Amino acid sequence: MNDKMIQQRLLAMQQEVLAKLPDMDGISYQTSEGCPDCVSEQQVDITDLKLLFSLDVESRQRLNRINHALNRLHRKEYRRCANCGSTLPEERLELLPLTDLCEGCEATTLSNQPLH
Ligand SMILES: [Zn+2]
Repeated sequence: MNDKMIQQRLLAMQQEVLAKLPDMDGISYQTSEGCPDCVSEQQVDITDLKLLFSLDVESRQRLNRINHALNRLHRKEYRRCANCGSTLPEERLELLPLTDLCEGCEATTLSNQPLH
């Protein structure tokens, strides 16, 4: 998967969560596709507190993780383990697109840092 495909996948996940939001006048959840520079603008919308509070906790956490992954993609860090810096295998990212840890680090950090 190239960055663009990953970004589209993450944006699709984001849309899935945002689809649960009630319609609000004057606020657009539309995201423009294929523009990496738009990622930060989208985040402004999504971090809007009113929007977030209309979501359940689980959805909010999911949105946070999606935003985190989009940020990492934007900074070209998506394929790197946030802990040890090793390259994350493609299969792992396909399976767990929101992970930022390699298998080894996830195993060692899970006990003291729950991934919620
Ligand atoms: Zn690691």
